[in-house]
Amino acid sequence: MELLSRDAINYTVGGHSLADLPNYHEQAVLDLLRELYASDDPPCGCSICVEDSYALALNSLPPRYIQSTSVNSYLSSVNFIPPEVVRAKVLEAVEKVRTRPNH
Ligand SMILES: [Zn+2]
Repeated sequence: MELLSRDAINYTVGGHSLADLPNYHEQAVLDLLRELYASDDPPCGCSICVEDSYALALNSLPPRYIQSTSVNSYLSSVNFIPPEVVRAKVLEAVEKVRTRPNH
């Protein structure tokens, strides 16, 4: 299977677009990474390290996709990862990349 960029993926099924279903953890990881990069001791800001940190952090967390049409009923049934665990996973990913960068 060819690895496509998000823009190249066809998210339409049965005439319905699934392109706007967010993975809850993506937003949380992005927010935390931006916070780290704005800190006094930011990690390496090259594209390889930023992408590696993002991918490592997301791969260490289970995906949590949220349907836009049934958010209220769905949210109460989702087993969300606690924010402190998400933070720990992001910090762990950034530290792994910092100690063994791929650049
Ligand atoms: Zn780097």
